[in-house]
Amino acid sequence: MPLYPSYLALIESGELDERIEKLKKLLSPCGLCPRQCRANRAEGEKGYCGADYRPVISSHNLHFGEERPLTGGMRPRGSGTIFLAHCNLLCVYCQNFEVSYLGEGSAVSESRLACMMLDLQDAGACNINLVTPTHYTPQIVSAVRTAAGKGLRLPLVYNCGGYERVEIVRLLDGVVDIYMPDMKYADEEPARRFSCAPDYFDRCREAVTEMHRQVGDLVLDESLTARRGLLIRHLVLPNGLAGSEKILRFIAEEISPASYVNVMSQYRPAGMARDYPDLDRHPTRTEYDDAVAEARRLGLTRGLE
Ligand code: SF4
Repeated sequence: MPLYPSYLALIESGELDERIEKLKKLLSPCGLCPRQCRANRAEGEKGYCGADYRPVISSHNLHFGEERPLTGGMRPRGSGTIFLAHCNLLCVYCQNFEVSYLGEGSAVSESRLACMMLDLQDAGACNINLVTPTHYTPQIVSAVRTAAGKGLRLPLVYNCGGYERVEIVRLLDGVVDIYMPDMKYADEEPARRFSCAPDYFDRCREAVTEMHRQVGDLVLDESLTARRGLLIRHLVLPNGLAGSEKILRFIAEEISPASYVNVMSQYRPAGMARDYPDLDRHPTRTEYDDAVAEARRLGLTRGLE
């Protein structure tokens, strides 16, 4: 019987310590995400994402608003959610402006982060759900190492914006059990205008392909709680700006038609979206229904309402 969550096997073999060392080398100068700013974060320098060394946590709590497989399926217990401040995407329409742009929260040590994970486990969480983890990956994995030594046994959810370096995702093989990336844009122009990341789709495709290689399609236990696998989120934007059809076709044809995909309707103009006329409205019901119909046509039925 393989050890579960999977980071226990890496701890037993001693490999987790090697991964932490490799990740920490990539933190300063920073090359943790495709921007590769080279900021010397260990010396307090900040890169594009605004993060320096110590992880800033905006909140940690049991969250029941996530997808059902993440909150406990038929027996909701809540997802042990840790919201990390700052962000490597900084989308102009961000709904958490204070957290992503202004970095609202408390800077904590790795041992304090480990305690938060253990607190969430004690509170009954069914996983540790790391929201916007990319720029703090080394500190998170190090905290998991500490928490596991004190009894952490929950799977990790890597809940990211999808703008990832595949080299970093490879270092998370066997650390993360559940990947939950966004797939935000299929086209270069909206990715450049709204997130300053013209290579978004290329980097996201590489990362999601590697995530799926590691963990496969989403596997649920008998209570319909996520145990391992890939769960993709796609937010429909107005005026076809997200390229929904292209993204869904990529998932169905290049990843797996059994992928769990949450096609989300809740876009609203927030942050600086008012400055972009084509972003300055909710998607219409028809725009959203068309995306869902396309997902169904492609056979992507897992995760649809
Ligand atoms: S994680 Fe932040 S500092 Fe590091 S490369 Fe990305 S944007 Fe730059």
